Amino acid sequence: MKFGGTSVATLPRWQNIRELVASRRAEGARVLIVVSALSGITDALKQLCAQGDKSKRIEAAAAIKQRHHELLEQMQLAPPEGLLARLDDLAQLAEDGPRVLGELAWQAQVQAHGELLSSTLGAAFLSATGVATQWLDARECLTAIALPNQNERTRLLSAMVEARPDPVLTARLAGLGEVFITQGFIAREGRDDGIAGRTVLLGRGGSDTSAAYLGALLKAQRVEIWTDVAGMFTANPRQVTGARLLQRLDYEEAQEIASTGAKVLHPRCLSPLREPRVPLLIKDTNRPELEGTVIGPEVREHAPSIKAISARKGITLISMESVGMWQEVGFLSDVFAYFKQHGLSVDLIGSAETNVTVSLDPAENLLDSDAIAALATDLAKVCRVKVIAPCAAISLVGRGMRSILHTLSGVLAEFGQLRVHLISQSSNNLNLTFVVDEEVVDALVPHLHDLLIGAGALRTDDSALFGPSWEALYGRGDVAPAAASWWRTDERQRLLDIAAKATPRYVYHLPTVRQQARELKKLAAVDRLHYAVKANTHPAILGALAEEGFGFECVSPGELRAVIAAVPESAPLLFTPNFAPRGDYEFALTTRATVSLDALHPLQYWGELFRDKEIVLRVDLGRGLGHHEKVRTGGSGSKFGLPVDQLDSFLRLADAHGVIVRGLHAHLGSGILDDSHWGEVYGQLASLAERIGSVSFIDIGGGLGVPSHPGEAALDIAGLDRVLREVKTAYPHYQLWMEPGRYLVADAGVLLARTTQQKGKGAFRYLGIDTGMNSLIRPALYDAWHQIVNLTQLDAPATALYQVVGPICESGDVLGTDRRLPEANEGDVMLIAQVGAYGKVMSSPYNMRDEAEEVVIE
Ligand SMILES: *Cc1c(COP(=O)(O)O)cnc(C)c1O
Repeated sequence: MKFGGTSVATLPRWQNIRELVASRRAEGARVLIVVSALSGITDALKQLCAQGDKSKRIEAAAAIKQRHHELLEQMQLAPPEGLLARLDDLAQLAEDGPRVLGELAWQAQVQAHGELLSSTLGAAFLSATGVATQWLDARECLTAIALPNQNERTRLLSAMVEARPDPVLTARLAGLGEVFITQGFIAREGRDDGIAGRTVLLGRGGSDTSAAYLGALLKAQRVEIWTDVAGMFTANPRQVTGARLLQRLDYEEAQEIASTGAKVLHPRCLSPLREPRVPLLIKDTNRPELEGTVIGPEVREHAPSIKAISARKGITLISMESVGMWQEVGFLSDVFAYFKQHGLSVDLIGSAETNVTVSLDPAENLLDSDAIAALATDLAKVCRVKVIAPCAAISLVGRGMRSILHTLSGVLAEFGQLRVHLISQSSNNLNLTFVVDEEVVDALVPHLHDLLIGAGALRTDDSALFGPSWEALYGRGDVAPAAASWWRTDERQRLLDIAAKATPRYVYHLPTVRQQARELKKLAAVDRLHYAVKANTHPAILGALAEEGFGFECVSPGELRAVIAAVPESAPLLFTPNFAPRGDYEFALTTRATVSLDALHPLQYWGELFRDKEIVLRVDLGRGLGHHEKVRTGGSGSKFGLPVDQLDSFLRLADAHGVIVRGLHAHLGSGILDDSHWGEVYGQLASLAERIGSVSFIDIGGGLGVPSHPGEAALDIAGLDRVLREVKTAYPHYQLWMEPGRYLVADAGVLLARTTQQKGKGAFRYLGIDTGMNSLIRPALYDAWHQIVNLTQLDAPATALYQVVGPICESGDVLGTDRRLPEANEGDVMLIAQVGAYGKVMSSPYNMRDEAEEVVIE
């Protein structure tokens, strides 16, 4: 068990250590405690070392002595002999200065005292409070190895130890006792000549590395790193408060996450544990009940997932253009020789026929402008050099990166907006790294984290791997917890009863529809809300939304008829078809619906039909909407909307038939969770409206998303309202309309089905249910992810990993891949969540299987 500086600085912290050790003893384990110096002491010792003035050094040593005496007093302990002797040692070293031992050896000897003191003090406290504890000198266990390219400084201040399981040491300790305490950060220099080596330091991440070395030497049951946070997260929690705790990682992934930016663990401390397969646990000292992160041998996973996104700042890129010929022999050797000569370690490499670009990471190098300038001067002898800084490296980390590339299109699109200097895919298939300008990183990382969750690339639905968010664990508590799904709490029994009568069945929860409607009514900037009925045309839902004051947006005569039958005549209607036949418009014009056109054809060929009517014009804003919507709706790749360059032709045709363009409309696409897009559409439509003159309302469409993956951020309605109000201030003369579908009904609907058969096939386990893509086509059609739970065994531990499939004769009939669920029994009721939108309305009679019935509950 390793405890850092703050964990050993006060009496309560030591009491805590005592309890943790006692609990491990109660489990029958023998415990080796590895401690850092009391917080602040290592810095104080470094300052002492930097002090040329002897009396100042003596003063500094006295202050350090004082600090330890104070803690002893708190502990109500008399200073133990060993501690007094070490404090005297330190005073002597301060007095002598470096002249006896030599500068670097003296520094190492002085700095080692931080851990020597804290461990001596700890042994006394633990023994005095009933946990008999042996003090162990780490220098007797850890011997530094000599490395090529090592100089005196790295040999003494940044040493490495080769830690192989050592049965002799293990047996020796077993004979000595049950609980030991030793020092992090220090080791002894190895020598061949039999003389006792000098004290050396392990450098950065020293104490964690000590714990790992000792864990490997003793082939420990496990190494526990006790720190101030529960483990590794999917992103830096200071940047992304929604970052999720990573509960299980293998050594390579953890090392990759640590090397690409996570500070909680030094990457060095994992490799000693890999060969002896000793697991490492990261635990929060203040919250020992939290599970923490377990790092161990590779866990066989069906579902490759991104595990983390990390960012490193302060990266310098060196671009080297060969001035000689293509593929000149020895070019790389020449340029890298200079990096070696300047003591600089290269991180990422990108290469082309005549160019090599590398990155230098400040964590591995002392990067000051002099060092870079000196390197550049030398490199200029063999190539043209360009230094690009400050940059940042953003890494996506996870095992099997290449097999998840296809899920990253949204993330890659985001990089399309930026200057990307270098892309590197690690040869171990564990990371994909983008080097960009440093200034964009803080805003970009949280956004990318959301996109990764939304794309299902960071599989936060897998509760065995991804724990709670940082916000949930450590947040200030003033954020509302994500609302528990209605079916999970109150209505579970009712749903089981409904399923007992028949399955498959869609069940709609009207209170959720109303709740979503009321949420949208908070949009003060919006003058009129319409429900896009194609999402779900159940009459009870239409009725409920009419009561909430919504209008209705229909795309076919069938929808118009359904709405007219279900809602009062006062409810406004919109008709927004696409490539509809002439007859549809003829019908719509006999109703009270406001009709929209999105092509020249209707006015060119059926102009008389629209004579003297007021219509809405739907436009395609094309490129103007940015990368996201470009992918979805914009531009000539989409069949919707009148291209803006045909606007003048449209207006001429309208004029010729006395048609008045009263509204301007655009619909972005579906499932948008980023409020800023709406302001853009609104602004663009309003500025087009200025050109037209007759427009009195702007309809910015639907497409409001609801989070579907666990941990995905919800659309910020208040934020959206702010964005819309801002545009409205500039264009107060237009009414603002919207027409959401999914947002209103998605969460209100669930699909209930029963399990049929199971089958194992290779590494896969298939779980069959009694309906499939005939009832819910979204997974097959859009790769949509829907939460699936076993409602019968809602709280049972999720121990199986299933492919959830239906009975349809199509290999695409898969409702959920790699789902961690309880071991299922035939007949268990399975619930597929968030199917209130585009569920039943898209179902089909395929395979002539019975359609799922619909049940509405209040
Ligand atoms: C489908 C559609 C909507 C609703 O989209 P959601 O993503 O369900 O909000 C709105 N307007 C038009 C024109 C549509 O075709």
